Amino acid sequence: MIQMKNSSNKRILITGGAGFLGSHLCERLLDEGHEVLCVDNFYTGRRMNIAHLLPNPRFEVMRHDICFPLYVEVDELYNFACPASPIHYQFDPVQTTKTSVHGSINMLGLAKRVKAKILQASTSEVYGDPTTHPQHEGYWGNVNPIGVRSCYDEGKRCAETLFFDYHRQHQLKIKVARIFNTYGPRMYPNDGRVVSNFIVQALQGEDLTVYGSGQQTRSFCYVDDLIEGLVRLMNSPDDVTGPVNLGKPNEFTILELAERVIKLTGSRSKIVFQTLPYDDPHQRRPDISLAKEKLDWEPKVSLEAGLKKTIAYFKG
Ligand code: NAD
Ligand code: UDP
Ligand code: UDP
Repeated sequence: MIQMKNSSNKRILITGGAGFLGSHLCERLLDEGHEVLCVDNFYTGRRMNIAHLLPNPRFEVMRHDICFPLYVEVDELYNFACPASPIHYQFDPVQTTKTSVHGSINMLGLAKRVKAKILQASTSEVYGDPTTHPQHEGYWGNVNPIGVRSCYDEGKRCAETLFFDYHRQHQLKIKVARIFNTYGPRMYPNDGRVVSNFIVQALQGEDLTVYGSGQQTRSFCYVDDLIEGLVRLMNSPDDVTGPVNLGKPNEFTILELAERVIKLTGSRSKIVFQTLPYDDPHQRRPDISLAKEKLDWEPKVSLEAGLKKTIAYFKG
């Protein structure tokens, strides 16, 4: 039977669609009735993240590295491809920068050719170790250009530059989201990020490894809230280009997080202190007034509810 295309349904490309955030976005956009093309080189992404979507006739997967040109026809493009955890992005730092820079150029070239709207998954890391607190979009950041985190931070900063130059030079419809720490099901158990590390350690009865004194702060957003913000940004009027902070302004120390995880898992694990990684930001909390104003968005899921769902996933 020939399936007629509903005029409100779009063909949407998600690079990095087999990753943690990308797979949730694929699911959300398929639920809305769109056609989704997931492009991923499976560097950190996993087939199991998207296996449940494969039977859907509106879902397609292509193994491809976005550092190389890609010719497909789409209406919208979410550029998520890039390893995101420090362990993964520091494993092959040159490839990390290439993915942000060459990959963005290719995806911007594609969006330009087919006149598609394009959204970039940028990051709070563009603020580096911030000297302004909380971080608002007007802050230019405090980034080490030659450190171990620079391949990620500077790559993402250059990608933002490219997005705004394609916008100014070629009138591309762009959206830039600065995503703050996000957690939830499908995080990788061994990618070194703090929420997955603590939950796995607590469930296995191992010591929770707090780096430094644990007094550094972060603000954690549950994945469903973040995806809602991203979809709202994509659907916002053309003059809303961003950058827009997306995250939950619920700042707490890493030590507090460890204590919460131990309590919620009912674990007997202890906390141990280990060396703080180089260039680890001291504090991070998004100012989300712009997202509230332009997207009528703010996170709804409490830390406790989000952690419970994530713990249930890791138990499974
Ligand atoms: P992830 O590692 O789970 O997903 C990244 C995906 O991109 C993986 O599936 C990987 O295989 C793919 N990929 C990497 N390089 C590629 C390439 N050259 N070509 C094609 N595919 C490639 O990470 P995530 O947490 O889902 O992050 C997704 C995006 O969101 C990233 O761009 C990341 O920088 C950004 N982000 C995430 C967070 C967070 O807290 N998770 C915070 C800020 C920004
Ligand atoms: N590109 C792509 N897919 C397309 C169109 C372009 O991958 O559908 C790549 C192309 O290989 C080029 C890059 O995007 O290297 C930038 O394209 P643009 O048109 O901006 O620049 P130019 O081709 O003039 O260098
Ligand atoms: N962290 C920690 N123990 C761990 C993993 C991370 O104390 O087992 C700390 C890390 O040093 C940082 C914070 O938790 O201060 C968040 O780390 P993550 O890698 O999750 O995110 P990012 O540093 O990129 O914000």
